[in-house]
Amino acid sequence: MMAVYFVGAGPGAVDLITLRGKLLLEKADVIIYAGSLVNPGLLDFAKAECEIFNSASMTLDEVIKTIDKAVKNNKTVVRLHTGDPSLYGAIREQMDRLTALGIDYEICPGVSSFSAAAASLKAQYTLPGVSQTVIITRAAGETPVPEREALRELAAHGATMILFLSASLLDTVSRDLILGGYAPDMPAAIVYKASWPEEKIVRCTVKTLGQSASEHGINKTALICVGEFLGDAYQLSRLYAADFSTEYREATE
Ligand code: SAH
Repeated sequence: MMAVYFVGAGPGAVDLITLRGKLLLEKADVIIYAGSLVNPGLLDFAKAECEIFNSASMTLDEVIKTIDKAVKNNKTVVRLHTGDPSLYGAIREQMDRLTALGIDYEICPGVSSFSAAAASLKAQYTLPGVSQTVIITRAAGETPVPEREALRELAAHGATMILFLSASLLDTVSRDLILGGYAPDMPAAIVYKASWPEEKIVRCTVKTLGQSASEHGINKTALICVGEFLGDAYQLSRLYAADFSTEYREATE
């Protein structure tokens, strides 16, 4: 029987977890949550007798041992990760360890912070005539980024770009984005704690990213959004164009 679930907690607001994620939290005998970014309010969904661990103070070995022990006792375990677990979440190393132990698991997706940031900005990342591509990346930090994915290279596409884990490196980010080809006055936005009560949105340009973040005291838990999608110009979508027929609607012009 399935007993281990990796669950996406969503970007912060408690009601942005999926319905499935909430049901799993209600069912769990053991919850291990990523305390640095998961809203502790989500733990209110847990049963009174649920055992709760904060992985912020645990090593990979300790996490795996905790899961293994719970499974041996026939318990249901939820490993709660921020946003969607597929992005910058270190689930692969846990899954491989569980597989090696013969423990099966399932993943419940979550609303990533990059989706929450678009909602906060009231923006559409993919605009006809502007960009049809979203590059999700990060500045190289403690975790290196492969050379072929250097910001300068990615910037050359001029696409919509969302940077995770980069809020403390904005002077370098800004320089590399401009060297790579974004105009210095290309619109940009810093979205701090999207969907949390303390959310902040700072609109700026690629050139002023570092200065804008420090003016607002932002150096973590933020996404950097860059691209002409933050500007005024775009083309109307074909989907709703009056002269365009689809499988569901005849053209009226
Ligand atoms: N799996 C997560 C990302 C984890 S990495 C997701 O899908 O969102 C942690 C980084 O995500 C942070 O440094 C920050 O860049 C970003 N982040 C997470 N939650 C955020 C939020 N509510 N608002 C803005 N950025 C957030």
